[in-house]
Amino acid sequence: MPSRRTLALTAVAAGASAFIGLASASAARLPALPFSPETQTAPDQHGSGASWSYSGATGPEYWSTLDPAYAACADASQTPINVVSPTPHSKAAPVISYQGGKVTGFNNGHTIQVTSAPGNTVMVNGTKSTLLQMHFHAPSEHTINGRRYPAEAHFVNEAADGSLTVVGVLLSTGRQRNAAWAPFVRTAQLPEGTTRSAPLNWPALLPSSRRSYRYSGSLTTPPCTEGVNWVLLTQPVTISAAQMKALEAAYDHNSRPVLPLNGRQVIVTKK
Ligand SMILES: [Zn+2]
Repeated sequence: MPSRRTLALTAVAAGASAFIGLASASAARLPALPFSPETQTAPDQHGSGASWSYSGATGPEYWSTLDPAYAACADASQTPINVVSPTPHSKAAPVISYQGGKVTGFNNGHTIQVTSAPGNTVMVNGTKSTLLQMHFHAPSEHTINGRRYPAEAHFVNEAADGSLTVVGVLLSTGRQRNAAWAPFVRTAQLPEGTTRSAPLNWPALLPSSRRSYRYSGSLTTPPCTEGVNWVLLTQPVTISAAQMKALEAAYDHNSRPVLPLNGRQVIVTKK
């Protein structure tokens, strides 16, 4: 497959034919990432590829055919997956150094997301990456032994070389309201195209354990770029049923179905 940078250029070129003014006006602001709601860092970033959705003629099974820039969606190392019998491994746990801070939340038409201020980092396999943004999918995209959770949050981190590490957090429901998640849940009530600033305690959004499933996959939205380092934390975070309902009221079917492993190894760290 083409490199991620080639792919990003292809995506811009594909968009230029349809939105010349828009593409050229926004090209200077685009980061060196394939455009995707999975990597979007500002509310005014415009997607340059074909529109896509989670059902019907523009649904996941057709993504690879909607735009040449989305060809990777049909490749062999895609995300999400069903995690079954992962191999126990002594690999070091991720070191997640997130801090509290002010975030910008917005509704991008595919999910609700919050953009991180600089300075939040994660160290995985000796590589340091900086948190770009967090968003959610409902229900979860990954399944564990076939079990799907009510929702899954993705914390998207980028290394200096442009590679991505996504920390996934499974969300389940319980009796207690989760105060740390409350500012994000309020952001979920934003209408499409609107933004909101709020303080967010990033580390409090995560479970206490750093035990994680690890494998190499992709973005879960077009252009489905591969080479993404996945760190799916095994311990779910619990939010209240009312909080889950608020997330689902914003988006309740923004999840890509699971895809085959095709020989990839999935490990689970000991702690
Ligand atoms: Zn995602």
